[in-house]
Amino acid sequence: MFDIVVVGAGLAGSILARELAASGRRVLLIEKRPHIGGNCYDFFDSHGVLVHRYGPHLFHTSNEKAFSYLGRFTEWHEYEHRVLAVVDGRQVPVPFNLNSLAMLFPPSMAESLEKKLVDRFGFGVKVPILQLRRTDDPELKMLADFVYEKIFVNYTVKQWGCRPEEIAPEVTERVPVFVSRDDRYFQDTYQAVPKHGYTRMFQNLLDHPDIHPLMNTDYKDVVTIDTSSGDIRLFGSPFAGELIFTGMIDELFAFRFGRLPYRTLDFSFESLEREYFQKAAVVNYPNNYDFTRITEFKRIHGQKLRYTTILREYPRDYKGVEQEADTPCYPMFKQENQALYEKYLQTAAGFPRLTLVGRLAEYRYYDMDDIVVRALDVFAQQFA
Ligand code: UDP
Repeated sequence: MFDIVVVGAGLAGSILARELAASGRRVLLIEKRPHIGGNCYDFFDSHGVLVHRYGPHLFHTSNEKAFSYLGRFTEWHEYEHRVLAVVDGRQVPVPFNLNSLAMLFPPSMAESLEKKLVDRFGFGVKVPILQLRRTDDPELKMLADFVYEKIFVNYTVKQWGCRPEEIAPEVTERVPVFVSRDDRYFQDTYQAVPKHGYTRMFQNLLDHPDIHPLMNTDYKDVVTIDTSSGDIRLFGSPFAGELIFTGMIDELFAFRFGRLPYRTLDFSFESLEREYFQKAAVVNYPNNYDFTRITEFKRIHGQKLRYTTILREYPRDYKGVEQEADTPCYPMFKQENQALYEKYLQTAAGFPRLTLVGRLAEYRYYDMDDIVVRALDVFAQQFA
């Protein structure tokens, strides 16, 4: 019946399903949730606002191939993301940059710090906060400590449950100190969101006669893998085809080495009868409240409506099996977890017809464009 089983209809699974179907394979696409799109899923709420169900997803890339690939399935609404953070009662650009500096320090001090930053690192350079803190210049060290205290430490404790030094440096490097006056969150060549939403883009991706979606289905009810023989069974019968898995790798192997930790978020949406709630699409609250940030979706998609819908995100540990509705959002980037992941990876190596792709299966903090590139590479290397 099927040549390939793909587990998960997020970005990785959907792109692979599409490419495989386009190359003549019959694809069974199994999705646990009632919707496609994974955590990119969006919908129009009761006030007509296009909201991202699992938090803001802003597509940005400098990879022309990734952008033009998705462009086959959607028109784009150009959007350059800007984020403000509330610091000492003011709202300043994040990543912290020369404009943020000028807003928070007296003019003569800001000038002197700016000169030091430019002399030391160069204009237009991005400096990770943990690197800036190691500087030997006392004035720059003071600035680094200020930014660390006011922007990073409390936000990171909320988001990850640990301090910035306790998590892989790549995490905080995503939001460096930027020696620049460019207030944009990303500097990529292409920055846009799907004009009619991510869900519509996924519908187009999956619109192929050889893709057979099986929604509301836990793959474990359909697919079994035998870790001793390496056999894969589909609907109870031996399956000779390939399995592409985009879910949690620890779950695939029945948590045999213990659980890989993930962070999740509680999402709290609120609609208000006013044009706008805040000055930017995302405002971060590093220091107060239990939520990390508020997203106002109208500012992303440029909709003109009487109501506006905002979203507060409350991070916490993913509880998995105990809490069925939990959605794993982020792998926890720590060295000990990486070691655990490697054990699962070794087990997976015993399955020549199993391919792992995506944030959960590869336990990596992939951005959307990384996933597009990765999925297309997997197809080209293994299935073309
Ligand atoms: N971060 C922070 N303060 C901020 C913004 C980000 O401390 O105001 C840190 C925090 O650890 C966060 C990481 O930088 O998890 C990456 O932020 P990003 O906005 O890339 O996270 P995402 O949008 O993927 O949740």
